[in-house]
Amino acid sequence: MSDLSNSPTGRKAVLVIGGGLSGMTTAIETAEVGYEAYIVEKSPYLGGRVAQLNQYFPKLCPPYCGLEINFKRIRTNPRIQYFTTSEVVDISGQEGNFNVKVRQNPRYVNNNCTACNDCVAVCPVERSNDFNLGMSKTKAIYLPHEMAYPTKYVIDGSVCKGSECNKCVDVCKYKAIELDMKPKETTLNVASVVYATGWKPYDANKMDNLGMQKYDNVISNIMMERLAASNGPTRGKLVRPSDGKEAKTVVFVQCAGSRDENHLNYCSSICCMASLKQTTYVRTKYPEDSKVYFFYIDLRTPGKYEKFLSDVRKDQNVHFIKGKVAKVTEDPGTKNLIVEAENAVTFEKLKIEADLVVLASGMEPNLLTDQAKGVSVNPEGFITPELQKPGIFSTGVAKAPVDVVTSIQDATGVALKAIQSMRRA
Ligand SMILES: Cc1cc2nc3c(=O)[nH]c(=O)nc-3n(C[C@H](O)[C@H](O)[C@H](O)COP(=O)(O)OP(=O)(O)OC[C@H]3O[C@@H](n4cnc5c(N)ncnc54)[C@H](O)[C@@H]3O)c2cc1C
Repeated sequence: MSDLSNSPTGRKAVLVIGGGLSGMTTAIETAEVGYEAYIVEKSPYLGGRVAQLNQYFPKLCPPYCGLEINFKRIRTNPRIQYFTTSEVVDISGQEGNFNVKVRQNPRYVNNNCTACNDCVAVCPVERSNDFNLGMSKTKAIYLPHEMAYPTKYVIDGSVCKGSECNKCVDVCKYKAIELDMKPKETTLNVASVVYATGWKPYDANKMDNLGMQKYDNVISNIMMERLAASNGPTRGKLVRPSDGKEAKTVVFVQCAGSRDENHLNYCSSICCMASLKQTTYVRTKYPEDSKVYFFYIDLRTPGKYEKFLSDVRKDQNVHFIKGKVAKVTEDPGTKNLIVEAENAVTFEKLKIEADLVVLASGMEPNLLTDQAKGVSVNPEGFITPELQKPGIFSTGVAKAPVDVVTSIQDATGVALKAIQSMRRA
């Protein structure tokens, strides 16, 4: 990781906000044709939401295959500088000559860190693990996740007891911990700015009838990714959060808050594929006796994804039901969930008893809450290109809810747009 400084060659650069796959791709493609690129990432690691996935659809390979290649391209390209735990606080100027004020928030751990883990062993404070959506805990000093890039620890300053505790500082042989580290601000002069700020899960607790706020065994789709992941809170065991019992009967509730004017009025386009993929997690873990019930309004698996759907449909233990789930309740004795719905084709009223209910909640743009500076958003919060002034671009899910392949294609195209903008100015 670099210190904040201006472009090493003195040439104009592209600044990318967000270090997920879209942002990394724009920066890498820009740098690989000879231009400078900065990535400003607010979290302590690169990779974005994809780092949280267990497998990628449609190939069902671990996302780290793709991420590692990109980390290597970043590591080996001197034209890319990236700043984690950082954010853009101001953008002024115009195409070809933007001044971007970047604040690097303290990690409290410097480059001497060897990831030996001695600090974690002595840290007395625990915090909820946001990478695992609160399904596990970390210490106040922690590695964001096992495959994190950069492989560097970070301290959660909001819970650390600081120098009155000092145990991590005392145990660290490498003098890697600086509890008095302060935020650093620098202004970068760049030619164009690309927003690749991505998404956050729509809060499924907002749907009272679906029970996530009340019942431990109702989880969201992104929680399901972490539950199935071998580096997740259960080391990949597909079990119920309430009691660790194997989750063998699983109900997927599609459009949980999506295409609903009271929640998200758009389709996130990936949720059907994400739930079909997660259906294969259940069926692969428990091939003998698991059952999946898949409630949907309509199944959206366009183009090449049709084959994935037709393969899952062949499985006799997967039941597709066209119909909206009305209510999820819990049997307090067994912690089983009762899912009530009406089959929209046969009008049959259904009650399914399940171990686990997975709500397919949509992707909401991050900029709804993060302050959008120098950028205009559409009513849903996505940064559409036609609303921007020259030299400002957006890509990936910051622009529209899309899958990884589409994000990467878009990010490559946006690199070209950013380079053109740089040469124009
Ligand atoms: C449950 C689920 C499963 C999925 N599974 C698949 C799958 O199997 N295959 C597939 O193709 N797609 C899948 N997707 C979609 C996939 O997650 C997205 O396509 C992908 O994350 C888009 O990458 P991105 O870089 O645009 O956004 P993100 O991954 O969200 O990355 C954005 C980055 O920007 C950072 N950021 C945000 N705001 C700021 C700010 N203000 N300043 C600095 N940094 C900021 C974030 O910390 C993050 O690192 C799934 C989605 C869901 C919901």
